[in-house]
Amino acid sequence: MTATTHILVTGGAGFIGSHYVRTLLGPDGPDDVSVTVLDKLTYAGNPANLDPVRGHAGFRFVQGDICDRDLVAQLVAGHDQIVHFAAESHVDRSIQGAAEFVITNVLGTQTLLDAALRRPGGPAHFLHVSTDEVYGSLAEGSWPETDPLKPNSPYAASKASSDLLALSYHRTFGLDVRVTRCSNNYGHHHFPEKVIPLFVTNLLDGLRVPLYGEGLNVRDWLHIDDHVQGLELVRTGGRAGEVYNIGGGTELSNKELTQLLLDLAGATWDSVEHVPDRLGHDLRYSVDCTKITTELGYRPRKDFAEGLAETFTWYRENRSWWEPLKERAAL
Ligand code: NAD
Repeated sequence: MTATTHILVTGGAGFIGSHYVRTLLGPDGPDDVSVTVLDKLTYAGNPANLDPVRGHAGFRFVQGDICDRDLVAQLVAGHDQIVHFAAESHVDRSIQGAAEFVITNVLGTQTLLDAALRRPGGPAHFLHVSTDEVYGSLAEGSWPETDPLKPNSPYAASKASSDLLALSYHRTFGLDVRVTRCSNNYGHHHFPEKVIPLFVTNLLDGLRVPLYGEGLNVRDWLHIDDHVQGLELVRTGGRAGEVYNIGGGTELSNKELTQLLLDLAGATWDSVEHVPDRLGHDLRYSVDCTKITTELGYRPRKDFAEGLAETFTWYRENRSWWEPLKERAAL
């Protein structure tokens, strides 16, 4: 019998973290893990996202802040690995006010790293979920992991800080830290302030969708199933101190993405409202995934058109999930 690996998942009530937990504790997940979710339940955290695993014997939920040193130290003591998703994650909110981003993303990460390092009985492994936004913006080509970090938004700068802090704990103390930098995720359970769920839910309600500027900004889209696949490859087979890009392989301008969503909704460009561009809006992100592909066998499996159609259908069929969130956030 293999020993159980006890994993502390921060931010596990959010969009990607909850999908990670549902996958790990679902029918196709490994049978040798237990999961404790530590989540503050900010506006972005939703306990309902964890309903499918609530009855699982290996699941536990703790509401708390990753900046709470005592709580974090106490929790980390009982876990072998930390998979760190918790963050303030919305670029537009970071432009309105950056303080929470620095506190949670930087100080919170450092609090977790310290607890991992000082864990009684030996350090806990640390998988840090970073973002491609730390690289900045590029007109052509793709970023390998060795490219310098040139973040532009306060969100991206806070994530770059936490990403580098995590790596510093490997170089300075030898902590087993692995960093992933993924592109834009999409799928079900995505908070409806982000572009795909915002546009889908507006279109379902017959409302117009706000398109920034000319819609020329390009993003690579990664389905949450593929992201979880990449994270598990890095958690179980990655090397300490290494960074792994995770991409989806579908680059689209926001205009192209909008057209696909209008097609799914049976709507026209009359449903689009051009709004002033986001301040400092990065033009294009593109990650080079050669390293995770060749080293760990990663391959995105979800066809984008299919994944987008499934996502659209999920929002159409799960109004009770998103309607209260939109109302509360006045979206
Ligand atoms: P999300 O906003 O949906 O979820 C964040 C979760 O963290 C929420 O459940 C929230 O309650 C929790 N949280 C926030 N502050 C906390 C604190 N101080 N203590 C404990 N919990 C706290 O975010 P997401 O989209 O699921 O992103 C998860 C991670 O992936 C983030 O680190 C984000 O930077 C990264 N990422 C996301 C994307 C994307 O497309 N969504 C792309 C690249 C990287």
